[in-house]
Amino acid sequence: MILISACLLGVNCRYDGCNNLWERAAELCATYRVLPLCPEQLGGLPTPRIPAEIQGGDGYAVLQGEARVLTQEGKDVSTAFLKGAKETLFLAKMQGVKTAILKEGSPSCGSKRIHDGTFSGTMCEGNGVTAALLKKNGIKVDSEKTFNCVEAATVTFCSSDFYFNKQ
Ligand code: SF4
Repeated sequence: MILISACLLGVNCRYDGCNNLWERAAELCATYRVLPLCPEQLGGLPTPRIPAEIQGGDGYAVLQGEARVLTQEGKDVSTAFLKGAKETLFLAKMQGVKTAILKEGSPSCGSKRIHDGTFSGTMCEGNGVTAALLKKNGIKVDSEKTFNCVEAATVTFCSSDFYFNKQ
């Protein structure tokens, strides 16, 4: 089973009430069993919600208590982001997830790049809070920019406890 950011499948869970429908979503759902989750909703945040960015580091630093997630209005929402990451990890482990495809650039889901905390649209290298927690727990995190279906299928066939549901 592959964990995927729900917004990539067209779920309107994004901060602005929209989605990030991925052109390969249908192909993915036809090939794999998928677990669509939105960490920010799992953390108890409403949709729509005020956009938030990590200040003072990336998701790993938030996990260590060394950085915070603040909304554009300055409200500290770190607790909700941490809760969403933990709930996502809990469900991923329950389902035996080994690979996740998470939306690049998000303060929760980004796995290579996140916004730099200035709300100016500037990106920097780093992981979102959920991506960092999943990686720390041995889950391979890809994004819609990097996911390779062939490679994932190879990994799946080699792993006895990985569910594969090719149609
Ligand atoms: Fe998509 Fe992740 Fe943001 Fe939810 S938290 S809207 S799944 S990028």
